Amino acid sequence: MKKVVKFGGSSLADSGQFRKVGAIIRADESRVYVVPSAPGKRFSGDIKVTDMLIEAYRIATEGGDLNAQMEEIKARYDEIISGLGLDFSLDDEFKTIIKTLEDEPTLDYAASRGEYLNGLVMANYLGYEFIDPYDVIFFNEEGNLNSYKTAKVLSARLEKTPKAVIPGFYGQGKDGKVKTFTRGGSDVTGSVVAAAARVDVYENWTDVSGFLLADPRIIRNPVPINTITYRELRELSYMGASVLHEDAIFPVRSKGIPINIKNTNRPEDEGTWIVESTARKPKYTITGIAGKKGFCSYLITKAMMNSEVGFCRKVLSAFEENNINIEHMPSGIDTMTVVVHEDEFLEKEQKVVSAIHRLSQPDTVEIDSGIALIAVVGRGMKSQRGTAARIFSALAHARVNVRMIDQGSSELNIIIGVANEDFETAIKAIYDIFVITQL
Ligand code: ASP
Repeated sequence: MKKVVKFGGSSLADSGQFRKVGAIIRADESRVYVVPSAPGKRFSGDIKVTDMLIEAYRIATEGGDLNAQMEEIKARYDEIISGLGLDFSLDDEFKTIIKTLEDEPTLDYAASRGEYLNGLVMANYLGYEFIDPYDVIFFNEEGNLNSYKTAKVLSARLEKTPKAVIPGFYGQGKDGKVKTFTRGGSDVTGSVVAAAARVDVYENWTDVSGFLLADPRIIRNPVPINTITYRELRELSYMGASVLHEDAIFPVRSKGIPINIKNTNRPEDEGTWIVESTARKPKYTITGIAGKKGFCSYLITKAMMNSEVGFCRKVLSAFEENNINIEHMPSGIDTMTVVVHEDEFLEKEQKVVSAIHRLSQPDTVEIDSGIALIAVVGRGMKSQRGTAARIFSALAHARVNVRMIDQGSSELNIIIGVANEDFETAIKAIYDIFVITQL
């Protein structure tokens, strides 16, 4: 049994947190590959090392004096090193970083140093080998992960290295310079390492005991999700549940490796399992609820629309021409609704309307705004009678007017559109009917 363990910034924010991480790794022999983030916030209002480094980059590009900023960053690491009682110094590393930032600063290089330095400390603390992702993780010309080359080089390297620390968040760009993933990208590194080493489990350690069935800012103490499938997770995160970095799913999913989200501060909690498929029945009919405000809809009507071949394509090309993403598309017999994100679209609104008229000659186009979408997701829904009925009667009792309904034939989720002002009330009503009444 082999595991990759990725630790987020709050799990590595100071020496006290490092000790917890050390204990977790030592408690299980199979935790052989460790992917650390940079030190995160120690308390609310604190600044993440990654952000301090990005600020250092800004100072460098404006020709300012980097010393004070870099001293502050170094103090974060020095506290960790001395708190762990390590005989180890990052003095030379800091000299190199300062020099590079003065001579040829790049944003990605600056941002990546948080993980790089934390990796060096972690490797020293655990006695594991240090692998610099610069040598094993590659990006292509478009700035995306070069999966083929990475898999080849990284697996060969891991095969020879039974235990290693591989810092998260960066690798080597096509131009030979350090390149990072987008923010939160250490999740992606963890996944890439897990896939390359073909481990049994990818453990992703953070500061919560897994995912919750609903947003805790709306529902007080929501119940945790024990097991979720990749597809369910995708639906929920698409609808705003902020969980793992999106790109962290694909590498492990394609190899059938499960992800276990765990809490560094409560390692005994089981956390959430993210799996390809499972026979475990969810405790509640639904797995999760998520949603977002701020959508608009275009209602397009045309008599006999349904018998006109290519009508939908013509309408959709109006959006494509204007480079607008489509979120949902419920349709009726002579009507079709296209739901888009308000921010993306406001300035292009009239251009799209005229393009729809030019391309598809509809009878009318009406725009409606201020819509919130709520996704009720659950692999258990398709085999349960009355799920939709329960959702809609709960909403009716809560006096929420449903403006739109969309359910795909996968029956994995039901999307409900309500007015922005009804968003929280609607989520509470759905949570109550599926969870509170079942407790
Ligand atoms: N340290 C980086 C960030 O703050 C990457 C990560 O933690 O995943 O976004």
